[in-house]
Amino acid sequence: MTLAVHADSALRSPVQYLKGVGPTLAVLLTRLHIHTVQDLLFHLPFRYQDRTQLTPIATLEGSQEALIQGEVLSCDIHMGRRRTLAVRITDGSGTLLIRMFHFSATQQKQFAKGQWLRCYGEARVTASGREMVHPEYRLIDDPEQPLTESLTPIYPLTEGISQARLLKLTEEALTRLDAHREALELVPEALFQARKLPSLADALHYVHRPPTDANVYQLLNGSHPAQQRLALEEMLAHHLSLRKLRATIRHHPAPPMPASRELIRGLLQRLPFAPTGAQNRVFAEIEADLQQPAPMLRLVQGDVGSGKTLVAALAALQAIEAGYQVALMAPTEILAEQHYQNFCEWFEPLGLHTHWLTGKLSARQKRLVLEDTRTGHTHLLAGTHALFQDDVHYARLGLVIIDEQHRFGVHQRLALKQKGAVNGILPHQLIMTATPIPRTLAMSAYADLDTSIIDELPPGRTPITTVAVDASRRDEIIQRVYQNCKTGRQAYWVCTLIEESETLQCQAAEDTTEYLRAALPDLQIGLIHGRMKAREKSQVMEAFQQNAIQLLVATTVIEVGVNVPNASLMIIENPERLGLAQLHQLRGRVGRGAAQSFCVLLYQKPLSRAGRERIEIMRESHDGFVIAQRDLELRGPGEVLGTRQTGDLNFKVADLLRDQDLLDDCKALADHVLSHHPDCVDTIIQRWLAQGLEYGSV
Ligand code: ADP
Ligand code: MG
Repeated sequence: MTLAVHADSALRSPVQYLKGVGPTLAVLLTRLHIHTVQDLLFHLPFRYQDRTQLTPIATLEGSQEALIQGEVLSCDIHMGRRRTLAVRITDGSGTLLIRMFHFSATQQKQFAKGQWLRCYGEARVTASGREMVHPEYRLIDDPEQPLTESLTPIYPLTEGISQARLLKLTEEALTRLDAHREALELVPEALFQARKLPSLADALHYVHRPPTDANVYQLLNGSHPAQQRLALEEMLAHHLSLRKLRATIRHHPAPPMPASRELIRGLLQRLPFAPTGAQNRVFAEIEADLQQPAPMLRLVQGDVGSGKTLVAALAALQAIEAGYQVALMAPTEILAEQHYQNFCEWFEPLGLHTHWLTGKLSARQKRLVLEDTRTGHTHLLAGTHALFQDDVHYARLGLVIIDEQHRFGVHQRLALKQKGAVNGILPHQLIMTATPIPRTLAMSAYADLDTSIIDELPPGRTPITTVAVDASRRDEIIQRVYQNCKTGRQAYWVCTLIEESETLQCQAAEDTTEYLRAALPDLQIGLIHGRMKAREKSQVMEAFQQNAIQLLVATTVIEVGVNVPNASLMIIENPERLGLAQLHQLRGRVGRGAAQSFCVLLYQKPLSRAGRERIEIMRESHDGFVIAQRDLELRGPGEVLGTRQTGDLNFKVADLLRDQDLLDDCKALADHVLSHHPDCVDTIIQRWLAQGLEYGSV
């Protein structure tokens, strides 16, 4: 087993040492995070173009990229809405129209009748036939002219750097690599050989310059052993960076908190229900963590309604009984307020002080809360990010609970760590996700956390019946809402629009409210959306909680956490526009009491295939873990984890969905590297992660 630890410095010379790289180009390259020769080697093609064979025009399908050739039949200028050069060509199998909006007189002359062209571009199939808009093209003298023999790598670019330039640069870097092949291999080769994967140097050569006999199919779908070798090491790098982050945090001391004797018993005695087996099991794990002198880093996953709040409360009581304060962070004010009310109800009879920080507080009230927190009078402080602003000082912060964590990325967790630390002592961290995360994603995105799963719902819940109804039957559904509310139950009407436009979404909710108020004058109808002031929102929520409002029209602001057990009907408009996890979250607002609950998915026709598939899954499944896995398959990891975390999971070659089966190896490999070759860890992270060691070097 050979291992060249620091020898890879040969490849770490600045790119400027390469031929043709001057200071200007060097600066441009830094935009692609390329500083060294090695960075160039790891600047991998993100896809390939197949110019190894010609596609007959007649077999071209829409949105297919292809190499075609043909003889010019005609070349005209069309004066439509835009001045267009239209060149019609044929290869004998069929004809294709090339359209260009930017063209010169010279180009126009080139396309003389009878001239042969070879084009690469994306085909479209329109009502008037096949076409390509601005394809790359070359004039050829002879249709028999040989083709490129191997796949063409396509690199990520930045302005000022072309594919051709990157081809040249990577070519030189590959030549350098040949002189220092051994220097690159940091992970003992044997570990990869066991999986029949090539060496790192061979793998890099292969993906940068696929040989002529390359397995095109494998390369294009990313399953070639060379790509798998790189993917595995890339996943290893990400995994190691999170493990390192974990180790850095765990290296700090945290206050050990003995198991609670009084407070937890006090709460459980007063509760009208007993914790489920799953709640007890998960809390036992937390209880053990909190007794340690190192910071707990635990993620609690549980389906919607599985009772994560109670688990959080038990953890909080253990911290409070040990003499520490608890910060409870929620992603929205609505949710923070709901937690605040809930915790007041549970904790006040125990003689504890619960406060919350909100935009609603007057300056004087806020000063009092801050003062109580600073002196240690406050036992639990709820709020949003505001909990960690500069003016908030804790006397003895011992536990931070983050609810509905999927909205915070790794970097937010880091910021939290810095703010929570006092004299190098860190608070324990308990993180609760609203939506179950598929195991594969959890292993990559949360490798720094221990995981507990609440895999049981409280007893007595009746499963929600989900139906899909075409929006043309809206009035029928409105009558159904009326019937429901007349029996004393409540309902939600959720308006969704394109997620990016909050304004439009609020507008839609306002219009719908007006419409519903006119249609159902005997009902109390409330409206809540993201553009309302915090105070207005909480007034509406309070009225809904007390059943003074029977029908609540809302945007997706009510997506997470809202708990009104008497609501048993939910209408979701345009469900086809939402992701599965979001639909599952929304739907989880009903079915919280013993009554039979219904969810009506009011879709717009025509449904796309993906839309229909999602609605189908929602009708079939109530299991958040199943839904999350399907969501991952349908939309990919970036969407499932939310935009914040997409950046954290920006893989160059690995694909968490495709490469799921590498994850177990990745973990085993990480264990091996951490225990046998700790000095390689930074180098591996550095060459794969653009931002280098930021994760680990807090
Ligand atoms: P989530 O996991 O979605 O955050 P919550 O903590 O809001 O779920 O709990 C949902 C509802 O279930 C609440 O009304 C809560 O009081 C109730 N609940 C929690 N645990 C139990 C239990 N063991 N038995 C009965 N009801 C419970
Ligand atoms: Mg919750």
